[in-house]
Amino acid sequence: EALDAVRAKEEQVHSFVTVDEEGALARAKEVQAQIDAGELTGPLAGVPVAIKDNMCTEGLLTTCSSKILYNFIPTYTAEAVKKLEEAGAVIIGKTNMDEFAMGSTTETSAYGETKNPWNTAHVPGGSSGGSCAAVAAEECSFALGSDTGGSIRQPSSFCGVTGIKPTYGTVSRYGLIAYGSSLDQIGPVAKDVTDCATILEAITSYDKKDSTSVKREDTDFTSALVDDVKGMRIGIPKDYFGEGLNPEVKEAVLAAAKVLEEKGAIVEEFDLGLVKYAIPAYYVIACAEASSNLARFDGVKYGYRTKEYEGLHNMYKKSRSEGFGPEVKRRIMLGSFVLSSGYYDAYYLKALRVKALIKKAFDDAFAKYDMILGPAAPTTAPKLGESLQDPISMYLGDIYTISVNLAGLPGISLPCGTDRQGLPIGLQLIGDCFQEKKIIQAAYSFE
Ligand code: GLN
Repeated sequence: EALDAVRAKEEQVHSFVTVDEEGALARAKEVQAQIDAGELTGPLAGVPVAIKDNMCTEGLLTTCSSKILYNFIPTYTAEAVKKLEEAGAVIIGKTNMDEFAMGSTTETSAYGETKNPWNTAHVPGGSSGGSCAAVAAEECSFALGSDTGGSIRQPSSFCGVTGIKPTYGTVSRYGLIAYGSSLDQIGPVAKDVTDCATILEAITSYDKKDSTSVKREDTDFTSALVDDVKGMRIGIPKDYFGEGLNPEVKEAVLAAAKVLEEKGAIVEEFDLGLVKYAIPAYYVIACAEASSNLARFDGVKYGYRTKEYEGLHNMYKKSRSEGFGPEVKRRIMLGSFVLSSGYYDAYYLKALRVKALIKKAFDDAFAKYDMILGPAAPTTAPKLGESLQDPISMYLGDIYTISVNLAGLPGISLPCGTDRQGLPIGLQLIGDCFQEKKIIQAAYSFE
């Protein structure tokens, strides 16, 4: 059924870079046999899943939506994907994304843009736009995305699906092609919070192959699927409702807060502070890490190599110039600049200090509140092509999501209405570190 849906919808939506029809059918047969033999009994057995194309899958093309990895077939599978396979999920393909996860619209892909299934004149958001569009278009039951600065939550909001960015360290990054290693986290995208909690439970694991992996105990996330918010303290940061927020988004998000209040939560406004520093700090840190992480793509070890060159340096230069797209180049240059001697203290170290202050602002907030409620993005999905002209305004669209990554916190985005054009609006709930269960519980009250 999933493959039929892919056949019917891909032409309009283009959620996938690769559809593995043969592999999926063979695997489905295998899984069916295991189900029949009683060897696979969990909720994900036989469920079709799509994987963002920045997670390595053994024997299956993994491009990061970049020309530089146009022919990269990994020899190993990312740990999170492996966990899904162990649970019996069936991978149907790899989803489109912004090149190396850099972007907010899935338009920077080297393999063409993905379109929003709600209205194909609009973007699906990004960078996990392919994963979110595939779920929204019902081409798969759920998908994995990655979130460095909002890439699960913002496209979930634009596509009317639910997505969780877990606490940093919860899901192994082994086999996730790195963008900003200190911020990257894999998470589920699905049609509702029940599915997301089920998937998160399956992919959470301590993994010694990821040096930042955390040993967690309370990972029975589905136990939080309880319809009870009585006494929960919910803080609404006034700073998230100021200039730049679309009034329809504001109205829908505040209406959702009212619903929680009517169900017995204690909802209060407060000043989070420092919000305006999050974007500059994030773009300094993320680009710095990206410039270092992307140094490995040099035309030698894997991927694209230029056809004609004179000597080694020229080969590097031409392969990288031809292989990377403009947004990735912009970030490599920015990142190399802020890390270079003479500028390191002024930009990179300063950004790290801002990151620490942002973490402290959240710590202060979580001393008073169980969670923070706000919009996932300032607007609904823009039209295709609008954001590409103006990278700065695209960066500003990350305002509500990136500080969550800087502080390593969990966040969930879930649908809370539509605007006048019929495009979905997303509500974001942010929890303290390791408090996924609280935000899952609150989100469940909308189900
Ligand atoms: N839009 C942000 C960026 O371009 C976030 C992307 C992400 O989370 N991968 O960096």
